[in-house]
Amino acid sequence: MYKYYFILVFLFIQGFSQVPNNEKLRENNVKISQKREVEIKKILSKLTLQEKIGQMTQINIDVLGKGKDIYKSDLPFTFNEERLEEVIKKYKVGSILNAPATTALTVEEWENIIAKLQKKTLANGGIPLIYGVDEIHGATYTAYSTLMPQSINMGATFNRELVKKSAEVTAYETKASNIPWNFSPVLDLGLDPRWPRQWETYGEDSYLVSEMGKQMVMGYQGNGDVIDENHVASCLKHFLGYSVPVSGKDRTPAIIPEDVLREKFYKPFEESIKAGALSVMLNSSTLNGIPVHANKKLINGWLKEELNWDGVVITDWADIDNIWSRDKVTKDRKEAIKLSINAGVDMAMVPYDCNFIDILVELVKENQVPISRIDDAVSRILRLKMKLNLFEKPNWKREKYPDFASKKHTTVSYDAAAESIVLLKNNQNILPLKKGAKILVAGPNANSMRTLNGGWSYSWQGEKVDQFLPNGITFYKALQSRFGNSNVTYEPGVTYKMDGAYWEENNPNIVAAVNAAKNADYIVLCLGENSYSETSGNLNDLYLSDNQQNLARELSKTGKPIIYVLNEGRPRIISKIENYSSAVLQTFLPGSEGGEALADILIGKINPSGKLNYTYPKYPNSLTVYSHKPSESTEKMEGVYDYSAEVSVQWAFGHGLSYTNFEYSNLKISKPSFNPEDTITITLDVKNTGNVEGKESVLLFVNDLVASVTPDVRRLRRFEKINLKTGETKSVTFELPVKELSFVNPDGKYILEEGDFNIQVGNLSQKIYCQKTKLFN
Ligand code: BGC
Repeated sequence: MYKYYFILVFLFIQGFSQVPNNEKLRENNVKISQKREVEIKKILSKLTLQEKIGQMTQINIDVLGKGKDIYKSDLPFTFNEERLEEVIKKYKVGSILNAPATTALTVEEWENIIAKLQKKTLANGGIPLIYGVDEIHGATYTAYSTLMPQSINMGATFNRELVKKSAEVTAYETKASNIPWNFSPVLDLGLDPRWPRQWETYGEDSYLVSEMGKQMVMGYQGNGDVIDENHVASCLKHFLGYSVPVSGKDRTPAIIPEDVLREKFYKPFEESIKAGALSVMLNSSTLNGIPVHANKKLINGWLKEELNWDGVVITDWADIDNIWSRDKVTKDRKEAIKLSINAGVDMAMVPYDCNFIDILVELVKENQVPISRIDDAVSRILRLKMKLNLFEKPNWKREKYPDFASKKHTTVSYDAAAESIVLLKNNQNILPLKKGAKILVAGPNANSMRTLNGGWSYSWQGEKVDQFLPNGITFYKALQSRFGNSNVTYEPGVTYKMDGAYWEENNPNIVAAVNAAKNADYIVLCLGENSYSETSGNLNDLYLSDNQQNLARELSKTGKPIIYVLNEGRPRIISKIENYSSAVLQTFLPGSEGGEALADILIGKINPSGKLNYTYPKYPNSLTVYSHKPSESTEKMEGVYDYSAEVSVQWAFGHGLSYTNFEYSNLKISKPSFNPEDTITITLDVKNTGNVEGKESVLLFVNDLVASVTPDVRRLRRFEKINLKTGETKSVTFELPVKELSFVNPDGKYILEEGDFNIQVGNLSQKIYCQKTKLFN
């Protein structure tokens, strides 16, 4: 009794002390930021015009390395002292990016290279430089770092906590490499499976991407006003509308109406900026005919002014040049620089020469770019450098990071992989597999660490993963350790050409795999894609390769049950071979622990809990997404008319099976009839009615039944992942301000219209009613 009394008194005092403490913290933060702004002005007043523009310039590390040309340094990396003099001493460039020859360095090499650059910069009376790298799933460019599952997996976990933890590990290992700035997360919407960067997204849904984006920003940057030694600055990309090129090919034009752009594509950026993101990278391509790098309305308007945001906007790779050389929007480089800087670009990833500086100096002297714009850009860059504490501490030492590549970090990678894998099909509960079973492991993805990790893994295209992880646990090796070496046979049947383009395969040996299947109880067939990044991953045919489909077909003739393990950056179509499988698991790109996680799912140690975060298409010409319009409905003749009224989706968004069953009941909504200012509370019960413990992602969808702009058939608005023991019931509560039921109208304003809405969770749904229309500002 006394014990509880003390706890209450303690909590009471805590509650009181909390208020002044928070206020103090706020006051303190205001003071720090005021002091910082004074300091920024002071530094700015001392810089020459050329020095200011030097700060706005980012150069690729290969320019500074010895090698045959400026495009690729020789490894091990050594400095080309002459170019170092030019870039750092003469031009006082403010930022360097990338890994030499886009290949991972050890923490020691990183520490030394960046320390040398900082020393040279500071000796020159300069401002500390800011080094930026793409560390997109773990410290991508640091040798032996802990590689996490890729973003597409992280989205499929529907687990905010895991996403944040994975970002924390990445930040820590990036800082252990003396790198303070990470070009991540990608907040593009993975709406088009043809696009080669779909796997860099958190999925097709805007709400899911927004939620995961916020977690990433918090995980990367931590909570402080100044980023501490274990965190890095994030860079949201690629603003805006990058992911849906009409052609499906990377860096080609997108056409997106402004209402859709605002409601779907802008939202994740808006939310992550509110969560404190310090920088944004732009979309390389054109949107509605205008290169985004020249779009003042979007950069200056939507991003900076509307959000009252004081962070840094950086270009993507050589994209000011692309305004004239590729997109033909200006006649030359000078016009392109003028357009882009006046549109609000703060830093140019040039990345190969300092000519940008000379031209911009000229433009300012000719009054074509106002000096106020330059001062604004440099202030933003100085602010970022101060928030990273670079003036106090330009380098971080690797020995201060004992958890680099530790077991603790591997566990986060394993947990994320395990929660991301989606069980798409499990006929007659063939999975989990029986202990002691004899297994043939086949397919080109069965024994490769490269395919587990995908692109941006120790090198840009991911082709060096096996070299960095010679003892990595592939699907095949993990199955051997679970079922015994003598029970597991490996005969791939189809293999990738590891020194070729990602789609190239060697001459198949399907007969060998078929023969090896004779002694097996099960065939685990690992299908998918080899690794690729960006434009090199462009695709002409969404079907899985012919060789792999033939392999599945021939193996099916053995009559042995086949389990497909998909390991792919985007949903390659398998509708012609789907019926040969007894079970299908989507592993996406599960990272270095993907083999272990998959094997634990196959033996039943882990109960699968991932859910599809995109729509798995059945045909290349039926690529509708889950939030489509009523006229695109795939289940009925008047929808996407397909003669047979057949469902043209292989697996729907949100689909994912478990080894147990979950029953949803008791859906209750606090205010079935509401006003636009209200918040409604939605509750329901979820029960585990099966025989094993399991995790379930509960997804809440809303649907405006009638709207002045044809409404989406469903929109995700909340999700929560819960764990349930056998027989256990949990109540799930969602608070939903009804403003989130609104949509953006053609005037670009959020509007909530009077009328009926549907709330849907699992197989439960309920109609609710909005009493009056409201236009939000
Ligand atoms: C990619 C960006 C990346 C940049 C720097 C570009 O090609 O589009 O996502 O951050 O390179 O490596």
